[in-house]
Amino acid sequence: MIFRQSFDNVSSTYTYLIASRKGGEALIIDPVLEKTENYIKLLEQLELRLVKVIDTHIHADHISGIGELRDKTKCITLMGEQAPADVVCMQVRDNEKVKIEGLELTALYTPGHTDDSYSFLMKDRVFTGDTLLIKGTGRTDFQNGNPYDQYNSLFDRLLKLPEDTFIYPAHDYKGDMVSTIGEEKKFNPRLQVSSAQEYAKIMNNLNLNNPKMMDIAVPKNKSLGMSIDQQRRLNGLNCEEIKIMISKNNVRLIDLREENEILRNPSIESSINVEYRRLPIYFKENKEELKNINLIFYCAVGQRSALAVQMSQSYNLKNTSHLIGGIQKWKN
Ligand code: FE
Repeated sequence: MIFRQSFDNVSSTYTYLIASRKGGEALIIDPVLEKTENYIKLLEQLELRLVKVIDTHIHADHISGIGELRDKTKCITLMGEQAPADVVCMQVRDNEKVKIEGLELTALYTPGHTDDSYSFLMKDRVFTGDTLLIKGTGRTDFQNGNPYDQYNSLFDRLLKLPEDTFIYPAHDYKGDMVSTIGEEKKFNPRLQVSSAQEYAKIMNNLNLNNPKMMDIAVPKNKSLGMSIDQQRRLNGLNCEEIKIMISKNNVRLIDLREENEILRNPSIESSINVEYRRLPIYFKENKEELKNINLIFYCAVGQRSALAVQMSQSYNLKNTSHLIGGIQKWKN
């Protein structure tokens, strides 16, 4: 496995890059905008193809690199379903799996620092965002934070993981890089409490200043998505136009979503399923046949399908379009 932890010393943020092998698919957790070029260079050096990028929650102390990474690498941007951000092109729910080639992470909904905070468990390690920090926990005094929710997220979820599970947080301000559940249970001062009330009392009396970047970072991080106009410019079609298109011959309708998403909202009749991250292989394997077919992509909210149109152009496929707003719009 390839595993890299990188640090942004302006916001004290840790970013993680994970892949199962050199030359394979990669995933990044909590990227910082200013470090985008570093991530891209590392991906190139390790010959990795970034397919998913995750933010554990809406960050208040830095601008996320997820929008920029999407634009530069055409990766999927993923957050929990509670995230109030238009950048989320794939939502996950509690206990759902996030898959890339050779690896699987389990999404754990761990609210408290914010109401959209998730942790991601991968075998022997857990990425805790700002829910559980090394010898600390994330503040709970803004973005719908709540110390009682955080107490439950900590004591009912994270601390129930095996004691030797490694903890990789989104921040550290003292230079610590990794800990374990066992160490935190014993030595994290915030966890030496006997009730949720006692925990809330500590959290409600921290009296911290707001992060310097907060008024800029929070609204910005909520609006890194691809607008409807951008989607339209990439050969976007509305529902009526799609209906006319699919009644014609020589059209292939492709659902780019993954299994979990299709279980929630079934595919449009007559479509085939090709997961977004497998598109390059699909294009390569069916190159000759696809030249003479009109391809129409759709996904959850229209962002993956817009990227698919862009991607198809680099495979010399010219008759491609996509559904603006995705299956959500179609359902309405
Ligand atoms: Fe945070």
